[in-house]
Amino acid sequence: MSEKVEKSDAEWRAELTPEQYKICRQCGTEPAFTGEYWDKHDEGIYQCACCGTPLFSSATKYDSRSGWPSYWQPIEASAITNRTDTKYGMTRTEVVCAHCDAHLGHVFEDGPKPTGLRYCINSASLKFTPK
Ligand code: FE
Repeated sequence: MSEKVEKSDAEWRAELTPEQYKICRQCGTEPAFTGEYWDKHDEGIYQCACCGTPLFSSATKYDSRSGWPSYWQPIEASAITNRTDTKYGMTRTEVVCAHCDAHLGHVFEDGPKPTGLRYCINSASLKFTPK
């Protein structure tokens, strides 16, 4: 798990759907309330759509009313890397997969207890595996 996944742009483009490629590899965002998982309530694990690393558990998923799947904590802190994102005149904290650098979404400090964090993630960056 410590080894970094590194693939060329052409390889990612070939492996992913056009939507996944745009969101995960080009920092895109799916429109709110359109993704596969924002309203999903099943128990299971959400893995990185690009490399399969387990990122979030249904146990920390909650309804943020944002239209994107939201979690108050990753499965492991080491699974996620935070980066400063200053696009669009805002300063936000981007979150990427620590293993393959896939863009996942952003983390905000308006989440529920116990962490107070809201990991606001694109469905397209995730792959759900039921428990
Ligand atoms: Fe990944």
